[in-house]
Amino acid sequence: MFYLGVKAKYMKRSEFPQKTCPVCNLPFTWRKKWEKHWADVKYCSEKCRRNKNTVHTNN
Ligand SMILES: [Zn+2]
Repeated sequence: MFYLGVKAKYMKRSEFPQKTCPVCNLPFTWRKKWEKHWADVKYCSEKCRRNKNTVHTNN
């Protein structure tokens, strides 16, 4: 029953929304400090926000 293993891998303890940071490509979860501007949050941390120029984009 590989299905059970796959399901467990994706189970989350929280139901908070998640986004993927475009700089480090890691998922990050909603935090209290972002509650008022979650829609505008793009990066997982201040560090990544500063490193946004490292993202490869088609300018
Ligand atoms: Zn990041």
